Amino acid sequence: MAANWKMNKTIAETREFLRDFIPSVKDVVDVDMVIAPPFTALAAAGEAMRGTPVQLAAQDIFWEEKGAYTGEIAPAMLLDAGCRHVIVGHSERRQYFHEDDSVVNRKARAAQKAGLGVIFCVGESLDERDSGKTFDIVRRELEKGLEGIDAGNLVVAYEPIWAIGTGKTASPEQAQEVHAYVRDILRKRYGTAAEEIRILYGGSVTPENVNSLMACQDVNGGLVGGASLKPDSFAKIVCYKKEK
Ligand code: PEP
Repeated sequence: MAANWKMNKTIAETREFLRDFIPSVKDVVDVDMVIAPPFTALAAAGEAMRGTPVQLAAQDIFWEEKGAYTGEIAPAMLLDAGCRHVIVGHSERRQYFHEDDSVVNRKARAAQKAGLGVIFCVGESLDERDSGKTFDIVRRELEKGLEGIDAGNLVVAYEPIWAIGTGKTASPEQAQEVHAYVRDILRKRYGTAAEEIRILYGGSVTPENVNSLMACQDVNGGLVGGASLKPDSFAKIVCYKKEK
């Protein structure tokens, strides 16, 4: 279960969250927990997570190692702050910061080269879904974005844009349909290793809907925005009930 805090929380708020959250998940053994705070809070979060099962992720990365790139953050800087993963290709980066497939791919490659796990996001807009383009969009984003990317340390997140921050969740059937399609594309690229790649669902996941989403065969976790901002809410999501 991965938390994407987006542009929320100061350093003090991050410490306060982790003070509450970490003890509340101390008995969790079978769910990997990842939190992606904003850049300014990474180092403080990394310190607070040290020695705990909660892992740190960044929300973005730049592909160069160092130099004259004002405002950018290099892979080694993320490692230095304690990050083990990075989110790449989030729809907000694609939409507001004009990151196309080739930019997303360069970021993913740089992350893997540095030893960071990649949480690779794909997903269609409402218009694209309504015009029957969901599978085409998801296929293009995966085919172009995963060029040169290894299966190890790769997590894919399916995030329908119409479900992000809107309170509209994909139904378990809608999620499973696309997740199964993602798995097929991953099989073509990675063969049997595709079975081990975790495919997260993202888009208005809450403590109320997490059980039914996690019951889907190809839904292996969640990428959670809004509902990850409160420790008790994210802890409930992490402690979802497995339906048989
Ligand atoms: C996200 O931004 O990755 C996300 C899924 O947000 P929310 O849970 O708020 O829809």
